[in-house]
Amino acid sequence: MNVAKNKVVLLTYQLSNDDGEILEDMLEEDPIALLHGHGNVIRGLEQALTGHQVGDEFDVVVEPLDGYGPRRDDQVRRLSKKYFNQPKRLKPGMQTTLQTDDGQRTVTVLKVGGKVVDVDLNHPLAGERLHFRVRIAEVRDATPAELSHGHAHADGHDHH
Ligand code: ZN
Repeated sequence: MNVAKNKVVLLTYQLSNDDGEILEDMLEEDPIALLHGHGNVIRGLEQALTGHQVGDEFDVVVEPLDGYGPRRDDQVRRLSKKYFNQPKRLKPGMQTTLQTDDGQRTVTVLKVGGKVVDVDLNHPLAGERLHFRVRIAEVRDATPAELSHGHAHADGHDHH
């Protein structure tokens, strides 16, 4: 069975940046399940999976526009410390999560002042060319519940 729209693909991966630095190494971990064709992962990776089958291992290079988007300079914000869970632990360069109207958002701390914090709202991987090594562990038909939810369910269980 080949990866196609409305199939569930289980895969493991390793993610590196342009410098060859490994950012995530999930190749030998339990596979993640994705419902193909529903935008469950960044577009560049989803497109590259199409047509592959169990056992395939391959490299995918994803440009920023098909990944986490370009880095934008106007995404730096000065926010009150009250928006942060543990303001005393904040240090420049660290990543932390903010609760926003759109859910949780990962931000990078730039500067910590007495009452305010400067953060970069860009996704940490915005502007990065992403290098994936992908291994396909399984391809199966989606269940009706998965199709109606628009995402894969672990082990095909329809409750979560
Ligand atoms: Zn669901």
